[in-house]
This record gives sequence, C-alpha cells and structure tokens, in this order.
Amino acid sequence: MIIDSHAHVHPDPGGLGPKQDASVDAFLTALDASPLDRVVLLPIEPFIPVDFVFDVAARRPGKILCYGSVDWRLGAGAVEAFDALASERPIRGLKLHPRRQGITLADIDRLAELVRVAHRHELPTLVDCFPYGKGALRDESLEIVEALAEAAPGAHIIIAHMGGIRILDALILARTSYTIHFDLSLTFDVYRGSHIEQDIFYAIRRLGPSRCLYGSDYPDTDLTGYLKGFREALDSHGFTGEDQDWIFGKTAQEVLRIP
Ligand SMILES: [Zn+2]
Repeated sequence: MIIDSHAHVHPDPGGLGPKQDASVDAFLTALDASPLDRVVLLPIEPFIPVDFVFDVAARRPGKILCYGSVDWRLGAGAVEAFDALASERPIRGLKLHPRRQGITLADIDRLAELVRVAHRHELPTLVDCFPYGKGALRDESLEIVEALAEAAPGAHIIIAHMGGIRILDALILARTSYTIHFDLSLTFDVYRGSHIEQDIFYAIRRLGPSRCLYGSDYPDTDLTGYLKGFREALDSHGFTGEDQDWIFGKTAQEVLRIP
C-alpha cells in the first residue's frame, strides 16, 4: 500500500500562496492520476477547517483520510474541542502548526494536555517543523516537540519535514524516544542537489525506515512527481525494497492506524 501521509487543499485555490493551486479539483485530478492508495489531508484550524477537509475526503471515500485540528484561539476550550472532535470524527491524528496557529513554547502546559488527549484517543500528534518566513531563525518548533515528548511520555509525535533545515537536531531528538517519528514531506524537494540531501538520507538510515512516514506536502510538491523522485533517491542511497515498504506505507499504517 502506498500512502502519502501529508497533503493539503484549501477552500481558496490561492490560499496556500500565489504559486500553488490548492483547489479541490486540482487535488482530485492529481490523486486520480497518481499511484497512491491512500492520502492524508491535514487541516489547520481556522486556516484550513476540519469540516472542509472531511467534505473533500467524502469525494473519494476510503482513499482520502484526514487529520484533526483545533483552533488554538479557543484557549482552555481547545482541549475540550479536540476531545469532542476525536470522539465524533474518524481522524488519524492531531495536526499542530506553531507558525500558522501562533503556538509557542510558552503554551506548553496546555499543548501537553492536548497531546495527552490525542494519545488517549490513540492518535499521534504531528508538529510542523519547517522554519520559514519572518521569524524563521527564532523558530522553536523542535523545542516544542522536545517539551511535549517529556510532558507526554509514550505519546506518538511526528516531526514534520524532518525538522526542515534542522534535520540533524531533529534526529538527535527523535532518537530519544521510540514514539517520535519523521515525516519526510517537502524537505527533499527543497534541498535536492545540495549537501543537505546527504543529511536527509543519513537521517532516515539512522532513525530507521520503520520510524519514517512518506508525505509530499502537496500542493507544495506534486503527488506523483515527488513520489517518483523520492523512490529514485532511496534506490540510489541503497534503501532496500523492505525499507521502502515501511517508508511508503507500513510506518504510516502503524502510526496513523490505517487499516
Ligand atoms: Zn504541510
């Protein structure tokens, strides 16, 4: 089974930036033309609403799955709102986007509560960890992951984009607990052809394919093209068929509990 565990659509086709088509129609066309068996859409409340991604998922029942998200501006109500969401909807995990949702390390107590609720529902938490744009050098998303791992031991946490440029920091962190995983989306596309490419495949090898989930971060990359390029790169770095079975499906099946 080939699973893309990280993709986005947006109610506004230009909502993810002027260079990308985030429309539902473009996504469904790309999905139908791809070899993917499953794709997981990530909402980011209130920027990309949960209800919206579930409406999109209903267009390809069983093939499109969804994370959950909660509006962080709800304050103390966010934990309760997520608990209700996890009871009502078949979500595969909790998505946190510190930069877009205004989540900081100062919020760690409430965040840890949220992650413990997700864990109680047997759901992993994915944290966006790609420093980007204004304030990028003050990005503290990996520090948030570290604090969450300490405050909610045993909870499954996924470091999105392998930590971005901070891949080696992310690797040190991920190696502190078997319940921390790497999401492989986007980063290879950004650093392909640079010396960072070596770090990407070194880190996958060190952490192990059974801790790594393939994703594209569509529409930032192409559903089929990124998959093909990633497979070729894994081949050239000596990853076996069994390694790739984990990366492209089995890890996501286990961590996101996809039947
Ligand atoms: Zn993303």
